[in-house]
Amino acid sequence: MITQLHFITTYMCTHTCDHCFVCSSPAAEGTFTPGQIVQALDQAQAIGTVERIYFEGGEPFLFYPLLMEGIRQARARGFSVGVVTNGYFATSDENARLFLEPLAELGIAGLSISDDVFHYENRVDNPARRAFSAAREMGLPASVLTLDAGGSGPDTPGSPREEKTGVVTGGGIMFRGRAAGRLSRYASPRDWRQFTRCPYEDLVNPKRLHVDSFGNLQICQGISIGNIWEHPLRELLRRYSAARHPICGPLVRGGPVQLARDLDYTPPPTVADACHLCFLARKARREKYPEILSPGQVYCDD
Ligand code: SF4
Repeated sequence: MITQLHFITTYMCTHTCDHCFVCSSPAAEGTFTPGQIVQALDQAQAIGTVERIYFEGGEPFLFYPLLMEGIRQARARGFSVGVVTNGYFATSDENARLFLEPLAELGIAGLSISDDVFHYENRVDNPARRAFSAAREMGLPASVLTLDAGGSGPDTPGSPREEKTGVVTGGGIMFRGRAAGRLSRYASPRDWRQFTRCPYEDLVNPKRLHVDSFGNLQICQGISIGNIWEHPLRELLRRYSAARHPICGPLVRGGPVQLARDLDYTPPPTVADACHLCFLARKARREKYPEILSPGQVYCDD
């Protein structure tokens, strides 16, 4: 039962972080239009189970009027709304307030602000910290998304690990997207044969899905279960069966190891984690399933 729909508002971002689990950058294409957001929200409303909409990216504040209109439209349909940002706009306290005050007026349920050494080397004073302070001062439910020292973790605020402060949510690096190419060599090498289950996503009964402006309905970044511009969300969900899906099926049966076998992919002797193996196998076989293993913005080949 889908309760969360995450809009990849844009793949464009101010940053080109090494640890990005997609491949966002200032040049990345793929941004919703206002009309597309309305259409997708209507589809979400029609299935009757979605409670929360997330606007994330990329960096959704790059398209500020679009973000505001998206939040307005989502709130008008009774959804609670979460937003994920790197806070780049908070070049001063005054600008932080200017950008965030309309969110307080619209009423959002969560504002997650990425603040780690990959986004900002200055760990004392940076835009994310200014955005967080301004958000808390105006009563917005803000939290900081940061990186744990070790291990992999959740990628979005759907299931964060809360630290003692209650305002910092942590996840480790996920070795997929750009992180797979740039950072996996620094991880402890692990025998690929141990990754016999997907550690993060419920591929049989997903509760959250991601959608981008191309219409890709993604169960995990880069694994599409259909296109909402071709078939309504309700129909895609009715037709979805993990067992019959050529990527999710093997992942459910035996994790990334089974996926590599089914895709006839020979992994390197060691990988960084389950997602790294999954990503390598999928990237190597994109030509076989071009509509499912999509878009290029997730596989860093644009
Ligand atoms: S193993 Fe694959 S499907 Fe599962 S969370 Fe990692 S990348 Fe996504």
